[in-house]
Amino acid sequence: MARTALYPGSFDPVTNGHIDILRRALALADSVIVAIGIHPAKKGVFTFEDRREILLASAKAEIGATTANLSVIAFEGLVVDAARKHGATILIRGLRDATDFDYEMQMAGMNGAMAPDIQTVFLPASPQTRPITATLVRQIASMGGDVSAFVPKAAAKALKAKFKS
Ligand code: ADP
Repeated sequence: MARTALYPGSFDPVTNGHIDILRRALALADSVIVAIGIHPAKKGVFTFEDRREILLASAKAEIGATTANLSVIAFEGLVVDAARKHGATILIRGLRDATDFDYEMQMAGMNGAMAPDIQTVFLPASPQTRPITATLVRQIASMGGDVSAFVPKAAAKALKAKFKS
């Protein structure tokens, strides 16, 4: 049976850290669904459509992902419901530090209680991308800083265009 993994997050926009996790998730699962959480009250920098386009272009350029093994969806509500709806049995999360660990252990425990058929798999951040957070990337870009060391080309270009206006 084909294994499908769901990788949830904000991806506002995708960073080199996300791409690193995605590359390694694609080595574990036959296909990965990136699930972009949409909060009606929390407006991000980019729309869902923009985030999706930036992510697909970046994953194609950086790790050769195609529509055959990667898709991007929007979800509201519980991650486990989104996973079930899309036939995913693995939840991928990246771990950067102890703050991620504490929060992720709580979520994995509670998701596991709600959905014992879905396994959370933690992937440790790679040393080169470990410090990268999308929040800081957005802050740096909003102040006119160069983020090209932290995000794929498509994301750097989109951030530049966004904060020029
Ligand atoms: P961020 O926390 O950077 O705003 P998201 O909320 O989109 O990003 O995070 C989605 C998932 O990606 C989480 O599991 C998070 O731990 C993981 N992740 C984010 N940045 C990195 C990174 N630099 N290295 C490894 N995992 C990461």
